Amino acid sequence: MRDSVSVVISAYNEGESVTELHKELSKVMKDLPLKNYELIFVDDGSSDDTHKKCRDLQEKDSHVKIVHLKRNFGHEIAMTAGMDYAVGEAVIFMDADLQHPPVYIKEMVKYWQEGTDIVLTKRLENKATSKFYDFCAASFYKILNLLSDTKIPAKTPDFRLIDRSYIDVLKKFNEHDRLFRGLLSWAMPNDKVKVIDFVAPERFAGTSKYNFRKSLALAFNSIVQFSTKPLRLSIYLGLLTAFVSGLLGLYVIIEHFVLRHPTPGYATIMTTVVFIGSVQLIVLGIIGEYIGKIHMEVKKRPLYIADYESKEVKNAKKDI
Ligand code: UDP
Ligand code: MG
Repeated sequence: MRDSVSVVISAYNEGESVTELHKELSKVMKDLPLKNYELIFVDDGSSDDTHKKCRDLQEKDSHVKIVHLKRNFGHEIAMTAGMDYAVGEAVIFMDADLQHPPVYIKEMVKYWQEGTDIVLTKRLENKATSKFYDFCAASFYKILNLLSDTKIPAKTPDFRLIDRSYIDVLKKFNEHDRLFRGLLSWAMPNDKVKVIDFVAPERFAGTSKYNFRKSLALAFNSIVQFSTKPLRLSIYLGLLTAFVSGLLGLYVIIEHFVLRHPTPGYATIMTTVVFIGSVQLIVLGIIGEYIGKIHMEVKKRPLYIADYESKEVKNAKKDI
């Protein structure tokens, strides 16, 4: 069939962009060879007028559905919430700031209707980021892919189309700490995937919700999510320091018994203690990161709390 699509738009304080996005998106969606479509705006606990703007859109356009998260849960969870309520045979994910130009949806849907299950996008250039940011992002993906068995391609943002068969797989993941694109890479087949190149323009309005600190936290979390190799590496680090201290010990013995130099003790002991202490702290920190994640995940708290479920979402299920 392949004739109904849900578009999931995560929006956090995007009151200045959602109306324009809806305008551009609707222009594209209306012309597609589809029986029906829904536009799910996930308001990720915005403190501006995003929610009001979405409700205004819903008044005018019955395709608009709203999932209103009661507080800010973060982009990854916002996409998850949108996916949970989507009923289309394919789900398209996009940002609300028009950095994911709706015009590419035509090509996505075309590939999908021809039989492709997953249509990714590749960002050739991001007009909104600095060279330094791009360098950090590229380095992060290199490190992540070196450490992880699940390979996550760089420069592929969350702007993508996923067929229902894979959406149903993704819905089975219930971890809190989630990098959506990583989960998809885990489930992704080698064939039946197409990639569309695009250039991301500047944001339509407002500023990025990811500052350097948040991006770095996401990077660390992603490594812990997809790899246990840092734990193995800490064993190697321990072995390396043991080897280095062995050499040092040998040197002290030779100096004492062969060269007959009195060994000056204080500085050597302090350096060794500080060195070994630092290595132990690093290793403990790495173990702590993993234990912390286990601690958070075993609680099995709900991923999010969403408002308006009974109203918009029930209607959405009837409509499509
Ligand atoms: N976003 C969200 N929750 C958040 C942070 C961001 O839903 O806690 C949304 C945001 O409104 C935007 C998308 O996620 O639609 C991507 O965020 P942003 O544009 O700030 O990231 P960037 O494009 O700068 O990486
Ligand atoms: Mg953006």
